[in-house]
Amino acid sequence: MEFNKVLENVTTYEAGKPIELVVREYGVKPENVIKLASNENPYGTSPKVTAKIQELAKNMFVYPDDSMYELKEALANKFDLESSNVIIGSGSDQILEYCVHAKCEKDSKILMAKTTFAMYEIYGKQTGATIIKTADDQHNLEQFSKLYKEHGADVIFLCLPNNPLGECLDKDDVYAFLEIIDSNTLVVVDGAYQEYASFKDEKKRIVAKDLITKFPNCIYLGTFSKAYALGGMRVGYGLAEASIIKTLYKLRAPFNITTLTLAAAIEALKDEDFVNTCIAKNFEEMKRYEDYVTSRGFEYIPSYTNFITIKFGDKFVSKEVAQKLLETGVIVRDLTGYGQNAIRITIGRNEQNTKVFEQLDEVLENLK
Ligand SMILES: *Cc1c(COP(=O)(O)O)cnc(C)c1O
Repeated sequence: MEFNKVLENVTTYEAGKPIELVVREYGVKPENVIKLASNENPYGTSPKVTAKIQELAKNMFVYPDDSMYELKEALANKFDLESSNVIIGSGSDQILEYCVHAKCEKDSKILMAKTTFAMYEIYGKQTGATIIKTADDQHNLEQFSKLYKEHGADVIFLCLPNNPLGECLDKDDVYAFLEIIDSNTLVVVDGAYQEYASFKDEKKRIVAKDLITKFPNCIYLGTFSKAYALGGMRVGYGLAEASIIKTLYKLRAPFNITTLTLAAAIEALKDEDFVNTCIAKNFEEMKRYEDYVTSRGFEYIPSYTNFITIKFGDKFVSKEVAQKLLETGVIVRDLTGYGQNAIRITIGRNEQNTKVFEQLDEVLENLK
């Protein structure tokens, strides 16, 4: 059968491996699996959210409120914006998809860093657009500017901080770059890990309202999947000028967010203490990873997120390290597919991390 030709260039996204797979294939007990490959919040969901979901489970037969009034209000409140500036998606992934599909067709151009979130390229190629990448792996605004002046772009992706490498540009530098961008170019600021970056370093903080007021061609994306610990519920949001939001809405299927998901997100927003506690612990634990990596003679990329990228140089092959760890029940992300001889590990809970260090030592010893 023949399909849309553009799909011939599209690769499918490879998600982090699930616990079930490790149980099935390597016979590890589910309770012994340490899943640190998808940057979930390892401290679990806030108990207040869990209680709310249990209470609402009986309402599953009713369609959700398709206007998403309450969650939009809550987000508008949090970001000091209006409801008309908010769109909710099944993960911020869905908003990414809307952004690309709203702007791009064959011959459109999309500009991004060489090593960044894989879905930017996948959504881009679905439309037949040309993907333009910087030479450097990490975000380099000089290269972005140069490529933009040379080729222009319909969409620019800035991942602040960047997944899978963990680096983050300073807000002032981002703003200086945005000054040179044409008002017809949509700039997507992906803030999936902004809560972490702005906690660690105030210079990294992007204030959505300030961003979209100064630069009305920007959209800010946030998610509940990471710091807010709702990866399994699939909910994220976009914040932009009302006219952009209105256009994105044309791409939305009805009831794209479930009743329970909406309730979970609303509850999660009420429990910011939980989020802040988790973020503080994240950076305490990250320090242990930094010390570990340095003491073993490897390098890491300083990270503004809830994960750390460890480079093996010419010492080990990351793919083998990741596979051996998997067999012991530790799921991490191998970055070979991103052109890196490195693994990305989500910062887990204290006892999980201790286990990771032990297993990693053993795996590396055996691979020598
Ligand atoms: C996790 C992630 C997202 C979105 O995740 P959703 O679960 O779809 O909300 C978006 N961008 C980056 C860079 C991410 O790491």
